[in-house]
Amino acid sequence: MARQTSIQCPNCGRQFSAIVETVIDAAADPNAKVRLLSGQVNMAQCPNCGFAVGMSSPLLYHDASKELLLTFVPMELNLSKDQQEKAIGDMMRELTSRLPQEAMRGYLFQPRQMLTLQGMIDTILQGDGVTPEMMEQQRQRVRLLETLLQSPEEDLTAQIQQHDEQIDAQLFQTLGVMAQRMAQEGRADIAEQMVVLQEYLLADSTFGQSLIAQSRQQEETVRQVTADLEAMPENATRAEFFELALRYAGDDEKLQALVGVARPAFDYQFFQDLTMRIGQAPASDREGLESLRDRLVELTTAVDQQAQMALANAAQLLGAIVNAPDPDPLIAESLPMLDDTFLAVLQANLQEAERQKDLQMSGKLRDIYNRVLTALRQNMRPELKFINDLLGAPSEAEARQMIAEQAGAYGEALLEMMDAVEEVLAARGDEAVRGRLAMLREAAAQVLS
Ligand SMILES: [Zn+2]
Repeated sequence: MARQTSIQCPNCGRQFSAIVETVIDAAADPNAKVRLLSGQVNMAQCPNCGFAVGMSSPLLYHDASKELLLTFVPMELNLSKDQQEKAIGDMMRELTSRLPQEAMRGYLFQPRQMLTLQGMIDTILQGDGVTPEMMEQQRQRVRLLETLLQSPEEDLTAQIQQHDEQIDAQLFQTLGVMAQRMAQEGRADIAEQMVVLQEYLLADSTFGQSLIAQSRQQEETVRQVTADLEAMPENATRAEFFELALRYAGDDEKLQALVGVARPAFDYQFFQDLTMRIGQAPASDREGLESLRDRLVELTTAVDQQAQMALANAAQLLGAIVNAPDPDPLIAESLPMLDDTFLAVLQANLQEAERQKDLQMSGKLRDIYNRVLTALRQNMRPELKFINDLLGAPSEAEARQMIAEQAGAYGEALLEMMDAVEEVLAARGDEAVRGRLAMLREAAAQVLS
């Protein structure tokens, strides 16, 4: 229940069309509820300068499962009482025309009028069981983050230690959401500041240190699993993978790492063989094998979903770059996201445009491809370039040879850069490359010691 409208950017004057939503039905469109709660409803981004433009419009919110019916008419619209009632009446008609007869209940005749959009959001959150105390805690988190962002860098450690008890998983999550929004709004400067703050929070708070320890533990697990896989013969069979999975059965971290590193081994045939073995196993073993199979199915699904999500994100970013009047600033800002997945999506789109003989699009995509490669090359530190070459080496033996010959020239900086790359891979859930990198790091550390 939305309509297209034309608005003018108050920052640069560009006229563009945007979507104004007036009726949000949480049951019909759960995404619209999320957009409303995160302050994105009736916000449009100027395609020319990136400025976020708020559009004032009456709004009606309905959630049948909570019997919530809320209206909001912004004060700045300066509507008379009659005009307000007409606006609400129009939205109600729109809503009720879509509701089945049996859904008509008493509460639908008594919409609650909210004086502010924030009031509407708070009421919806309370309906979800988010208490005023929880909201107050969230406000405190945002306040603490704002204070930290305004502190000079040399004071950060002391400030963080002083607020150690308030630093928890939700604080990190809040910071992540804020940074994402800033980057989307084109405020790369603030987003970058937030990344710096996150590093301090990790290093200087009790919770941050436990996160680091956890990540080290995961790294160690991946290293062990990679070593076990390497000990397997070159042409290992499904039966051997099965034995390894069975050996890890009680250790979920190892199972996760195994599926991450060797996802292709867990194919359709593997699960068929496993089902057959369950059928043949003595009754006392069956339950354990079945729960192992269920867990492996869950883990492979999760790995696949992550890969699909990475593809969808890359496609979305490519769309934004294609539509940008000047792609270079957006490319420069998105460097960390211009990874193999992005390049694969870009190449696939290029091939498709060529196949369809869409000369304009293929020309544009080729131009973007060249710009992206140039930006990546310019940005690459020599250590990073070397790590890239190592990961792209045709064989492990050749990679080791390159390390033996060249690692000395890069020194400790090489190990530091490997750790940074490792963090990126971990965040992306790319366990396969992460395992290989761990192996290369070990080799480099030996050469350098
Ligand atoms: Zn603008």
